[in-house]
Amino acid sequence: MTLASKAKVAIVGYRGMVGSVLVNRMLEEDDFALIDATFFSTSTHGTPAPKVGKYDLGLIGDANSVEELSKYDVVITCQGGDYTNEIHPKLRATGWQGYWIDAASALRMKDNVSLILDPINKEQLKQAIAQGQKDFAGANCTVSLMLIGLGGLFTKGLVESAIVSSYQAASGAGAANMRELVEQFGAIYNDVAEDLADRSKTMLDVAAKVQTKLSTDLPAPYFGAPLAASLIPWIDAQHDHGFTKEEWKGHVETNKILGFADNTIKVDSTCVRVGVLRSHSQSITLKLKENLSVEQIEQLIAEHNKWAYLVPNEKQATLEKLTPTAVSGTLNIAVGRVRKLSLGEEYVSIFTVGDQLLWGAAEPLRRMLRLVLDAPLDY
Ligand code: NAP
Repeated sequence: MTLASKAKVAIVGYRGMVGSVLVNRMLEEDDFALIDATFFSTSTHGTPAPKVGKYDLGLIGDANSVEELSKYDVVITCQGGDYTNEIHPKLRATGWQGYWIDAASALRMKDNVSLILDPINKEQLKQAIAQGQKDFAGANCTVSLMLIGLGGLFTKGLVESAIVSSYQAASGAGAANMRELVEQFGAIYNDVAEDLADRSKTMLDVAAKVQTKLSTDLPAPYFGAPLAASLIPWIDAQHDHGFTKEEWKGHVETNKILGFADNTIKVDSTCVRVGVLRSHSQSITLKLKENLSVEQIEQLIAEHNKWAYLVPNEKQATLEKLTPTAVSGTLNIAVGRVRKLSLGEEYVSIFTVGDQLLWGAAEPLRRMLRLVLDAPLDY
């Protein structure tokens, strides 16, 4: 069953990174014309909502009030997993029958929850709505970006396994972490600005000073270690068998989105936080089930959806188009460096970059809202 238009929609976490990108995208696509929206927050409730284009959304609701939320047809939350674990069961316990659309990972692996990535699994999502399912969760950002970028291979059953090395931006961890990274860049620069201007100083002098700053005096309360001028090969909590939770998600969520049993496609990842502000990159080694040429692979990728954007495997094109700088703020998933590997004819290496705040987080949520409203979507 889908909802009639002008459904009452609670947008929880509107001011976080995912929430603010979501609101911008909803404005760009005029989603607010379809709904009666209210912003919710755990900390700014009771104050007037920021103006959203021509829409005045009244006062901000209390995101911790189950009673208030239960008056809504749809709750879209970008608040985080702890919030979901706290509020979702209480809301359902009231008998609330609305749709819960969630950016967090808390509900993702539950049986009665579908992962939202409609360019890949639109039919699965439509079927779930028709069967009365009410809980939907956006998938892990790197998984969503990989599947849209390489949908032409994954959805055709051509992939046997994947080894992924990710290069994930600070924005994947939220607004406070982004601020921390920029402040770290500033603190490092301020420390060496005079030395850089003084031509008698060598880069070895400057580097030594930066190293001292990094190891002794660079606050990192959110990341736990300096990220500027460094990297952190650990994302999220510890999981079993030496994997982090982020790496485990790559495996289980890929199969779930595709509607496959767990382990159908094996995905092994090493997930690394790097000093990029926005947009995640991934180096992916695929083992294909067939010996396809580079041209065939590129054609399958390009034909699958309008967001996967092929970059020729050339230096200039790569510098211009296959970087976080090039894709940030766009829905394009750049796919390049496509080449066969000397490991064997079925191995292919691909590098892909996408804005994880868009296709990796906010965009699937607003599209799921349109699916439950039975409103048009572009493909
Ligand atoms: P975030 O930026 O930290 O925002 C989460 C909440 O933090 C906000 O809604 C806000 O809630 C509060 N907050 C506290 N101080 C803030 C400040 N200075 N600026 C803005 N908000 C502040 O987190 P997020 O990156 O949007 O992630 C939200 C959820 O989406 C998480 O579960 C995350 O795992 C998931 N997700 C994130 C990404 C990504 O790329 N970031 C991708 C996929 C999924 P109140 O208004 O209630 O205080």
